Amino acid sequence: AKAEGRGTHRAFAAQAETEARQTRDIKFALNNDLDLGAFYLEYQPIVALATGHATSVEALVRWDHPQYGVLRPDLFIPEAEHSGAIIPIGRHVLAIACDFAATLPDEVSVAINLSAVQVHDAGLIETIANNLARNALAPGRIVFELTETAILNITPETVATLDGIKALGCRLSLDDFGSGFSSIATLYYVQFDRLKIDRTLIHDAMGDCRRRAILRNITHLAREIGMRVTGEGVESEQMKTALTDLGFDHGQGSLFSPALRDAALHDWLNYRTQ
Ligand code: C2E
Ligand code: CA
Ligand code: CA
Ligand code: CA
Repeated sequence: AKAEGRGTHRAFAAQAETEARQTRDIKFALNNDLDLGAFYLEYQPIVALATGHATSVEALVRWDHPQYGVLRPDLFIPEAEHSGAIIPIGRHVLAIACDFAATLPDEVSVAINLSAVQVHDAGLIETIANNLARNALAPGRIVFELTETAILNITPETVATLDGIKALGCRLSLDDFGSGFSSIATLYYVQFDRLKIDRTLIHDAMGDCRRRAILRNITHLAREIGMRVTGEGVESEQMKTALTDLGFDHGQGSLFSPALRDAALHDWLNYRTQ
């Protein structure tokens, strides 16, 4: 048993070493001759609970790393935010997402995630305007998702940038609502069009009527101030029914569809609207 324990210990040590090397390599690649061509998007439908039709798709970035294969954003976005590489990556994401939006039916918008670092980038509004113009896109077809951590310090500059995005005609979505440092100020000073409730909160409310009461009151508040509410991580029919009863407008999750590449997303939309 002792020898077995040592073996397990050695396996853990080897795994930790592999992970440390991967983290180092990712850091290095992000900061040296970054190949933007290796970043691509998948799109996950956001579905109106009442009709089952997609009203938008969320663009989710993937990195096809030459050595490690396809990496999920959680593995590289934090470091990209830290090093500033998120600025070129974010511009690339915006460009491909807007190009793709132009290929979708008018009633389907594209939701794009923005980091705090991007919100503080002085060129953001102009970059957005250029991408809309290049594709002759109605601005309302683009929704920007921001997490509360992205706007943690709701400074006059942050409010001005978000107002600028709204002035272009794009829409704003408050992402992962309730999961981090929620603050009334966020809702107070920025007019969000949508509220997305974090997956964990949704899951932990199933079978708990006190938590469901909290969600029900959030959807009431949202309705009163003109926001639509999306529930994330919808994985079963029961969850879909529960969210509908709680007053949610939209759902996103594996019950409807995982994130898909361009062609598969088009197929999914065609199949759904038949
Ligand atoms: P998020 O904005 O909360 O995106 C939703 C995440 O939940 C996605 O993970 C999605 O694949 C996953 N998901 C969707 N439905 C289900 C479900 O039914 N069950 C479960 N278990 N998971 C589900 P993903 O693609 O790994 O993205 C992780 C995070 O990375 C995103 O969280 C977002 O914060 C960030 N991210 C993604 N793309 C971008 C980007 O282009 N720019 C920035 N700044 N951040 C991005
Ligand atoms: Ca998001
Ligand atoms: Ca989210
Ligand atoms: Ca999340």
